[in-house]
Amino acid sequence: MICWSCEAQVPEGAQYCPTCGHSQSNRNTSPIFVVDATTELFNAVFVKAIVGQEANRAIRYKRPLSVLVVEVDHAEHMHHDLGVSLLNGLLRELAQALVQAVRDTDTVGFLDSDGPPHFAIVLPETDAQGAVLAADKTRRSIASHDFEAGGQWQRLTVSVGAATVNLEKMGVQDLLQEAYLTLQQGRADGAGPNRTYNPLHV
Ligand SMILES: [Zn+2]
Repeated sequence: MICWSCEAQVPEGAQYCPTCGHSQSNRNTSPIFVVDATTELFNAVFVKAIVGQEANRAIRYKRPLSVLVVEVDHAEHMHHDLGVSLLNGLLRELAQALVQAVRDTDTVGFLDSDGPPHFAIVLPETDAQGAVLAADKTRRSIASHDFEAGGQWQRLTVSVGAATVNLEKMGVQDLLQEAYLTLQQGRADGAGPNRTYNPLHV
């Protein structure tokens, strides 16, 4: 299927174009594609819509799907050390590093930075094992990146929570929430930074 607006490839049965955010069934509505001003990534609204859409498609077509929630380690110090302007620069650089760490078909979005900054990565056609591999690869890639924008935060690490669609389960599955809770639960158990948490390991 080709998007009527931007002519990008749209997955079969998708309601929204993952490239431009236009509804494929109603051409009169505005695109839900909204970019987060700080990171220039998809914002939380769009990411939630894409995750919901991909989960529905995964269940209907019996295809694997995983979601990662990425949290910056030691972020409470980062806020304190950097202030808003430097922090925003660092988040933008981190966003680019995350995009480079994943496949072209994966979608990276920015969720929030009320507490520690959180990013989301949507991994189509990826099962639980693949999600752990992707999470580990992402962590290694971030840990070895020299960040120019961050002052003394030239090196940083992230921890990742993973969730995978359960094709046997009926009803709505909120993979973002599952990945987030898995991350929080792993954190609460007192493990150190730079970890991957997933239902296979936790
Ligand atoms: Zn489009």
